Amino acid sequence: MNLEQSQIELITKIVAEKLQSAAAPKACGDGIFENMEDAIQAAYKAQRELFGMTLEFRKQITNAIKAELLLHIEEIAKLGVEETGMGRYEDKVIKNRVAIEKTPSVEDLMSGVFTGDDGLTLLEYSPFGVIGAIAPSTNPSETVICNSIGMIAAGNSVVFCPHPGAYKTSNLTVQYINKAIANVGGPKNLVVTMVKPSMEAVDTMMHHPLVNMLCATGGPGVVKAVLSSGKKAIGAGAGNPPVLVDETADIEKAAKDIISGCSFDNNLPCIAEKEVVVVDEVADYLIFNMKKFGAYELKDAELIHKLEKLVFKADGALNRDFVGKNADYILSKLGISVDPSIKVVIMEADASHPFVVEELMMPILPIVRVANASEGIDLSVKLEHGLRHTAMCHSKNIDVLTEMAHRIQTTIFVKNGPSYAGIGVGGEGFTTFTIAGPTGEGLTSAKSFTRRRRCVLVGGFNIK
Ligand code: NAD
Repeated sequence: MNLEQSQIELITKIVAEKLQSAAAPKACGDGIFENMEDAIQAAYKAQRELFGMTLEFRKQITNAIKAELLLHIEEIAKLGVEETGMGRYEDKVIKNRVAIEKTPSVEDLMSGVFTGDDGLTLLEYSPFGVIGAIAPSTNPSETVICNSIGMIAAGNSVVFCPHPGAYKTSNLTVQYINKAIANVGGPKNLVVTMVKPSMEAVDTMMHHPLVNMLCATGGPGVVKAVLSSGKKAIGAGAGNPPVLVDETADIEKAAKDIISGCSFDNNLPCIAEKEVVVVDEVADYLIFNMKKFGAYELKDAELIHKLEKLVFKADGALNRDFVGKNADYILSKLGISVDPSIKVVIMEADASHPFVVEELMMPILPIVRVANASEGIDLSVKLEHGLRHTAMCHSKNIDVLTEMAHRIQTTIFVKNGPSYAGIGVGGEGFTTFTIAGPTGEGLTSAKSFTRRRRCVLVGGFNIK
């Protein structure tokens, strides 16, 4: 049989397409893969495409992601609460909205420049390539949103490893992000994840040669794991934020701000007030006002002890059943019935009490008295455990505010406001849900996900 040239070309084309599709990663949906190897290969391909596109188009992509996600805030927030059984719907709406609206895009990548007799040198922010990102259960969609926007703006693609207890929420967010990218004609699979998470997949991702950088948002275990990987890693770990109140503070406002910050999403945020340190002379008035703004005070030592037995397991580990739960639910387990307007359970405690020392992530707020602000700063520094995460101070004494900011060395230090002001909710500045104290990037944004490169032109372009 003699084939014509056009028939030969057609057969060659069909065979080539078949071979190509056999080698192509098997996508199960918008960025959702059955196998980590396929996910990484797809993200690698997508990053190469993105890097060939203009910065203007990157901006268009992040704008499209923001516009699409704004349509689904309620759905994502609802699923986040349902799937994890933690947090508050109305606060998750706020958190997702701020992640969408206040995460910086390409405008974050301001170049540096030197010019002089020897010419022109540019300091540029270049992409890393494929970034492996680990997300927590406490902000399952917010982390995916702000990491994706920042990482894509910086020219990267992202492989997410969501928390097993929150992956449906993380994956739904990934799907909407890919839909938005497809709508503007951007690369497929710029943001990928797995149908179901596993530690095996996390391990593959952490050690894969095509993954150039890791970014872990979670507890101490995961931060340690990425820092031991041998790759460039950003570690955004646990905190135990103290809030100091001295005798010069506006006590009513301090009480309101503390209850509001502590109860935000039932204390899940790593930045939320975890213990109060208060100067003795204003302690009673602070507690009185905290009760006015939705706190329930436990005074009975036996009940406080019973609560301790509920919150910690016999081996001392945190009982996850109470993490992110409502205060009225927690109190009901002590046989105390209150209405849902009660947002926080407070009690006085010694500085060494486990409620004070441990990161609980539930609306239980211990209060420790100190003789004066100086003692309060010493104690706050101690309780922060050197995590360099977040602290708050309510004071009108500039020396106290300055001394505490200087001594405590936290990434976020909020003065006279609730903790969430530190991530741009009612406070100035951009937002992030990946606050990298241990590795020093601080409040991460697009430029945190870049390599700094120098581009030197010898002898020209100096017009000074
Ligand atoms: P977690 O540490 O239990 O889990 C985070 C992620 O890491 C999950 O995807 C989990 O599967 C994975 N993981 C856990 N141990 C691992 C290991 N050894 N190797 C590889 N992967 C591992 O976190 P969580 O309980 O969901 O989140 C709460 C913690 O995260 C709190 O300590 C909180 O302070 C912290 N957090 C920090 C920030 C920040 O920006 N610094 C933001 C949110 C949460």
